[in-house]
Amino acid sequence: MAKVHVLGSGTPTPTPDRFGSSYVIDLGGELVMVDCGPATTHKLAKAGLSATDVSSVFLTHHHFDHNVDLPCYLLVRWDQSTPDTSELEVFGPQPTSAIVAELIGTEGVFRRDIHARIEHPASQRVYTTRGGELPRPWPTWSAQDLVPGDVAERENWTVTTARASHVQPYLDSLAYRFDTPTGSVVITGDTARCAEVTELARGANTLLCCCWDHPDGDEQVDECVAEGMVGNMCGPADAAKIAAEAGVEQLVLVHATPSMARPNSSEKAVRIAEEIFDGTVVFAQEGLAVDI
Ligand SMILES: [Zn+2]
Repeated sequence: MAKVHVLGSGTPTPTPDRFGSSYVIDLGGELVMVDCGPATTHKLAKAGLSATDVSSVFLTHHHFDHNVDLPCYLLVRWDQSTPDTSELEVFGPQPTSAIVAELIGTEGVFRRDIHARIEHPASQRVYTTRGGELPRPWPTWSAQDLVPGDVAERENWTVTTARASHVQPYLDSLAYRFDTPTGSVVITGDTARCAEVTELARGANTLLCCCWDHPDGDEQVDECVAEGMVGNMCGPADAAKIAAEAGVEQLVLVHATPSMARPNSSEKAVRIAEEIFDGTVVFAQEGLAVDI
């Protein structure tokens, strides 16, 4: 059965337990990554998953808590790859294609490191010891900028794209639905409750929905709640309303602020969600893996 690993379930505020967003759909041999927030590559290793088993990376939007580990991940995947490793596919809202080229292209900011690893004999030895063949190739990839409504089919999954309601017009934001032979999962990225995301999630098995904070802020008002950010992000009630209206089976609350993640606050979030949504509600800790 396909499962989803919650690698990152925090916000831009680093804490010992949470930092940024990242998820991996595990299809048994093939991994699909959604978002690549802070320390994703390390969290991937901590989950026992291999960077080279990731076939595709999907980015929901270009806030740094969702993409800042992308250069690390791209370089590690290239560095660890062998002739058997598939070419990585990267998807996301514009300008995803340009960002990847600006990182690891021949004119990218990491070109000096890549050039040194290709040319220096010591680096070549490390590479050939791992099974690589000389001459060592420059990283190759395919990247595609997506817009709402785009669909892509691969052997083990089909992805459908919808608009998420977040910080437009400054950044385009997307939600993704993955249909696999053993179940379907929707990952909202950052979004307020909106018709497009609800429609995308209709009839899915599992919904991972951002759950930033309590909209009333209670006594633990986060600085971003005070700035009105919560209007661009679901809290527990809005996440549960999406889950209920879409008829999913399981709601996983992710992307929690430090105040939301405190035990009394997260328990309150689950209670609020369960009053609205009849299915299973999970408040995600980083490292959690759930069956889709
Ligand atoms: Zn965001």
